[in-house]
Amino acid sequence: MSGSPYSVAHDPLVAGRTASVVGSGPNGLSAAVALARAGVRVTVYEAGPEPGGATRSAAVLGPGTTVDLGSAVHPFGVASPFLRTLDLSRHGLEWVQPDIPVGHPLDDGPAAVQYRSLARTAADLGPDGSAWWRLYAPLVGAWEETVAAFLGPMLRPPRHPVALARLSIRGALPAQAIARALFRTERARALFAGTSAHAVLPLDRPLTAAFGVLFGAAAHATGWPVARGGSDAIAAALVAELESYGGRVVTGAEITDLAQVRPADVVLLDLGPHAVADVAGAELPAAVVRGLRGWRYGTGVHKVDYLLDGPVPWNDARLGRAGTVHLGGSLMQIAAAERDVHAGRHPGRPFVLVAQQSAIDVSRAPTGQQVLYAYAHTPAGSTVAVGDRVDAQIERFAPGFRDRVIGRVESSPADLERWNANLVGGDVIGGSMGGAQLLLRPRATLRPYSLGAPGLFMCSASTPPGGGVHGMNGYHAARAALAHLRRGARSTRAPAPTVHIPTRKDSP
Ligand SMILES: Cc1cc2nc3c(=O)[nH]c(=O)nc-3n(C[C@H](O)[C@H](O)[C@H](O)COP(=O)(O)OP(=O)(O)OC[C@H]3O[C@@H](n4cnc5c(N)ncnc54)[C@H](O)[C@@H]3O)c2cc1C
Repeated sequence: MSGSPYSVAHDPLVAGRTASVVGSGPNGLSAAVALARAGVRVTVYEAGPEPGGATRSAAVLGPGTTVDLGSAVHPFGVASPFLRTLDLSRHGLEWVQPDIPVGHPLDDGPAAVQYRSLARTAADLGPDGSAWWRLYAPLVGAWEETVAAFLGPMLRPPRHPVALARLSIRGALPAQAIARALFRTERARALFAGTSAHAVLPLDRPLTAAFGVLFGAAAHATGWPVARGGSDAIAAALVAELESYGGRVVTGAEITDLAQVRPADVVLLDLGPHAVADVAGAELPAAVVRGLRGWRYGTGVHKVDYLLDGPVPWNDARLGRAGTVHLGGSLMQIAAAERDVHAGRHPGRPFVLVAQQSAIDVSRAPTGQQVLYAYAHTPAGSTVAVGDRVDAQIERFAPGFRDRVIGRVESSPADLERWNANLVGGDVIGGSMGGAQLLLRPRATLRPYSLGAPGLFMCSASTPPGGGVHGMNGYHAARAALAHLRRGARSTRAPAPTVHIPTRKDSP
């Protein structure tokens, strides 16, 4: 996207300087790409055997299967203002769009369905169609500005104040209150509750409606696509882009001390706040370390991946075409389940997110079979095996589902954290979005990417704008690092003129 304010151009002032990035999630890789495009020589250090962080995939259900180990569906990947400036399609990234981004089955009657088309969705929602239209049409109509407003650092003067105000007016309230105030039918309320549950917070908390509003608008505006061939195609494309600018990734390199990644003019940490304090704390001001240590992680997820011998027998056949299916029933059932999870209890019927990658991307499973991806929200660090509750939630809305299962793999919150140290307690979005942490990430500061020590920056999902695969945290952190390098270049290359301060001796 030439001419975008988010594109990073070669800059002679910083060319040839060096950067180390610790962690190769989408934010670490995006930071690395932005720096490398400016001309900085970048090395990324990754603890795992492959780059990509929580955007990796593997054949864990057997030959011919591709299972997304972390992220599955990418509304903000396709919409990301930074990723859109990179031609990642030349490195093989292809978004595959379902014509139904979101499906939401109910116990009785037809499912609530969000089509790509806003008009078709409104028509399908019957008595709530006009309320749905009024909620989403203004945001969809100004989508570029809306997404840019949301994916910028929250406490800076916004580039798009009108879009931010529009989003804030609709999103400031609890999702539960907005759903009840705007919609009369259980179908519309449940549909809104499912998208709002991406806040991973109780739905009676302020600002949770913002998630329903934003994720819902994304479904109509740019869709909720999957990456053809697996989410690791996103990581692979970013690595290829980095390498095309001379950057490199070193895998199997767990960094516990900054000395391991030096010398480097700047260091960017794609790590959670506690890990940043562990790795870099000795060089940081005490107040910064205190702020990082005070970070609260959110609740976890328990993941189950299935291999099926055919499609899921949903109680509404349209759901077979949905990329994502939200399971939890009515607004009040989902609200109760989310409240339980935040209180540390395990609901009998948890909120479950299902992704049907192979229904829209046939490369994901052997012919005639399907992979199905699901996770339930659980209390942080839960050790309770809730996989059977995930099975039961799917069976509830797809009678006969269990008979279709020919392979199954579970990942508990602890398994996820072992796989990727940033997923503390199974938290998949880098920390709770509740309270002040929605705006003040990763600590109370107007410079969220700076660690308060020269040349040290943080770029993970725990910085603004939060979790998700969009690379914007990495992009903003890279811009902060580039500004630092430019300041250094200006002060060394163009020394300030000496000012002669007159003394009494100079007096005539
Ligand atoms: C199960 C699951 C489902 C998700 N679903 C979606 C989804 O559908 N859509 C979406 O947009 N987002 C989703 N997310 C969230 C999204 O994946 C994350 O928000 C995103 O990956 C965060 O990127 P990051 O670069 O900040 O960190 P990460 O992707 O977590 O990457 C951090 C990297 O740092 C490495 N690392 C950690 N410590 C060290 C160390 N000391 N030294 C070196 N390397 C280290 C880790 O190994 C990892 O590779 C999901 C996440 C999970 C786990």
